[in-house]
Amino acid sequence: MESRAVPEPGFRDSVNLMFNRAVALMDLSPGLEEKIRVCNSTYTVRFGVRLRGQIQTFTGYRSVHSEHMEPVKGGIRYALSVTQDEVEALAALMTFKCALVEAPFGGSKGGLCIDPRQYEEHELEQITRRFAYELIKRDMINPAQNVPAPDMGTSEREMAWIADQFARMNTTDINANACVTGKPTHAGGIEGRTEATGRGVQYALREFFRHPDDVAAAGLSGTLDGKRVIVQGLGNVGHHAAKFLSEEDGARIVGIIERDGALLSPQGLDVAAVHAWIRGHGGVTGYADAHYVEDGASVLEAECDILIPAALEGVIHLGNAARIRAPLIIEAANGPITAGADDVLREKGTVVIPDLYANAGGVTVSYFEWVKNLSHIRFGRMQRRQEEARHQLVVDELERLSADSGVGWTLSPGFKERYLRGADELELVRSGLDDTMRVAYQAMREVWHDREDVKDLRVAAYLVAIDRVAQSYRAKGL
Ligand code: NAD
Repeated sequence: MESRAVPEPGFRDSVNLMFNRAVALMDLSPGLEEKIRVCNSTYTVRFGVRLRGQIQTFTGYRSVHSEHMEPVKGGIRYALSVTQDEVEALAALMTFKCALVEAPFGGSKGGLCIDPRQYEEHELEQITRRFAYELIKRDMINPAQNVPAPDMGTSEREMAWIADQFARMNTTDINANACVTGKPTHAGGIEGRTEATGRGVQYALREFFRHPDDVAAAGLSGTLDGKRVIVQGLGNVGHHAAKFLSEEDGARIVGIIERDGALLSPQGLDVAAVHAWIRGHGGVTGYADAHYVEDGASVLEAECDILIPAALEGVIHLGNAARIRAPLIIEAANGPITAGADDVLREKGTVVIPDLYANAGGVTVSYFEWVKNLSHIRFGRMQRRQEEARHQLVVDELERLSADSGVGWTLSPGFKERYLRGADELELVRSGLDDTMRVAYQAMREVWHDREDVKDLRVAAYLVAIDRVAQSYRAKGL
């Protein structure tokens, strides 16, 4: 990451500062406030794996921020930057994120200090299984207590290894598959989980643009159509967000920032082509149909309508916040804006759609997957054909009425096929995600607009979330 001119608090302190700003506007007892703020526990594990003829030692963490609801939920990250501070900050964000989107979980997060690109697939499997073993034997992976998911550097592949490891160690647990989410569909996963976080970013922006007042607050107007978007990180989240926004909403992806530089194109980049190039070449360098900028981070400051940081935390900081030109930022990554930068942006009038909300699509669909695993049945399996049969009745009746009355009405082309088709799992998942993103935005927005002392969506999001966590603790008698 680029060097910073001004020293700033770490990620954990940054999350605390944001929490403090919100909680100062609430009327919680100091004891309860502290209980909600602190991270309950962090387990550090060091384990050895024999690789390439020698034992290599790895360090991993699983942090539980709040157990006001169980299981606790949160991804497992593979990156060299993983530290206790980072994992605790991310676990805290999970608590508030789950509360905001009403996913019935406490907050947790895990991380392994490793650069996954340095290992062969079979080596990563060995390392993942060993890490999972260490966590499973302490119930830090368990369908009823702690359910991980993918995050930076991990994907459905790692989740499948973790699920299999759990099943091997708990051979009679009928709910074993619910011990982790984000699994491949052929291994107990759910349709739409891989795309879910990026899809959620799209639904969040669509909901934002349904409210002209909010759009105007960012100094923008109209719809997503034609909006210039810059995305940082074309990984799982960034790629899906960029793909859906450009293919389905008419947004123009004018910039893509990756580890090795950035691509700019005022006409809009071909997201699929850039994605394929990165897969084949390990970065954006050498991609022909765009202007290449070596100092990728500088492109965060380029002119656009919407900036989507979707890579990692702390990329917008006191050193560059004042130069950010995007009037609207949606935090697809966790913690991309430091607490200090957040103040600068608020002063400038930049509207920030906060991480708590913006990237909650992942945990939302993880929740659906967990429910699917516990119910042992695919969503829609019982209703789909019955729904189709009832729709068929209506279509038959309309056609009979039209024929009998002699008016000669005809149904619009394509209507019959679309109306008759019952929803499959993917459609149901997308519908559930869309509803979740809309309802959560409306809860945040109400606080943002109704309270004089709330100046931004982040504070509004924390207020909604902290209040729900507090209610849950109170209900337990705390
Ligand atoms: P990923 O590993 O799939 O993708 C990260 C991308 O960012 C990669 O393409 C990587 O090359 C790029 N990147 C890394 N460092 C960079 C840098 N310094 N500058 C520019 N690009 C850089 O990870 P992901 O799962 O897409 O997660 C991205 C962010 O979204 C993280 O903050 C994560 O916590 C958050 N998130 C992910 C999910 C999920 O479901 N995967 C859910 C919620 C939040």
